Amino acid sequence: MSFTPYSCQNISDADVEAVVAALRSDFLTQGPSVPSFEAAFAERHGVTHAVAVSNATAALHIACLAFGVGPGSRVWTSPNSFLASANCALYCGATVDFVDIDASTRNMSLQALADKLVVAEATGALPDVVIPVDFSGLSCDLREMRALADRYGFKILEDASHATGGAYLDKPVGAAWAHASVFSFHAVKIVTTAEGGMITTQDGDLAHKLRLLRSHGMSREAIDLERPADGPWYYEQQALGYNYRMTDLQAALGLSQLARLDEMHARRIALADRYDALFGDAPVLKPVRLNDRVSAWHLYAIEIDDSQTSVSRRQLFEAMRAEQIGVNVHYIPIHTQPYYERLGFKRGDFPNAERYYDRALSIPLYPAMTEAQQDKVVSVVRRTLAA
Ligand SMILES: *Cc1c(COP(=O)(O)O)cnc(C)c1O
Repeated sequence: MSFTPYSCQNISDADVEAVVAALRSDFLTQGPSVPSFEAAFAERHGVTHAVAVSNATAALHIACLAFGVGPGSRVWTSPNSFLASANCALYCGATVDFVDIDASTRNMSLQALADKLVVAEATGALPDVVIPVDFSGLSCDLREMRALADRYGFKILEDASHATGGAYLDKPVGAAWAHASVFSFHAVKIVTTAEGGMITTQDGDLAHKLRLLRSHGMSREAIDLERPADGPWYYEQQALGYNYRMTDLQAALGLSQLARLDEMHARRIALADRYDALFGDAPVLKPVRLNDRVSAWHLYAIEIDDSQTSVSRRQLFEAMRAEQIGVNVHYIPIHTQPYYERLGFKRGDFPNAERYYDRALSIPLYPAMTEAQQDKVVSVVRRTLAA
């Protein structure tokens, strides 16, 4: 009985050749493939600037810094996300708070955000940056969030780690509404560079800051220099940056993968549509469909409909694993982690995220998944929930 993972990288012969060619070239660290990958990614996502970094966590960190986040700043994000969406603010010495999710989209609730902003304005505690997360690849309500950002004066840092290739209001995710968007190229994500991340923005000054911050805060470019150069070797440190560079091997892989993004996305869409049809009236809540956005389908996450079955998520998880099906759970609400509880959060603070977590299960979805594998996944879910 072979194992069906919940997600799986898709590496072609062309990907392998691209990495080998980079390996045989003169550049292993950040070299010519990095700006090529950045340019191709920016074009595909309809933005003027894309800045490649070592991973999306680093991307979130320097994006916060570039927005001026520091001690005394306030950052809000979604509790239904990976830890990095919140940790990035703590790296900068800021305080973190959460906005509960909408039960149907599983993304940050626009209404909860609007309500929380009213209270924050009255108490003088408005956020500096809000980090909405495009959970499973479905865009947040970014047009409306941008209207709130303009009214209350915060920046939107979209965590689009799940959303490479997704679309919102007829434009690629990352193009139009957020001040900056972050993408992840971790091996389980839509496009991979093994580890890697990208920040897209339409703001040239922000992109310039991000390029400094990813490489020690230093520059050699004549137009950047604060002082006359001592000579051709001259470089200057102008900010406190990091070594968050992407390597040329990673960028070569990313470029090759990006060329297949649309093909891989089409396959994810077809599999997601097929899941919807196969589940029919099974006692599960399927991912919501909204006609103004196209999910990137990083995840296909179901919820057990506990009004129709008494089988628990734990029972379903174990039944699936026993059948060699690599289910997973996304996400344990960040605010319930021990570290965050020590900061004062507790279970009960964000009930929609908690209720979602209690019933959620991410089932396998990746481009090379076969229909036979998918049929088996659905039949095990149906059989287990009917018991
Ligand atoms: C994967 C992920 C990250 C972190 O990405 P890395 O590239 O592994 O650092 C951040 N946010 C979300 C929502 C993610 O899924």
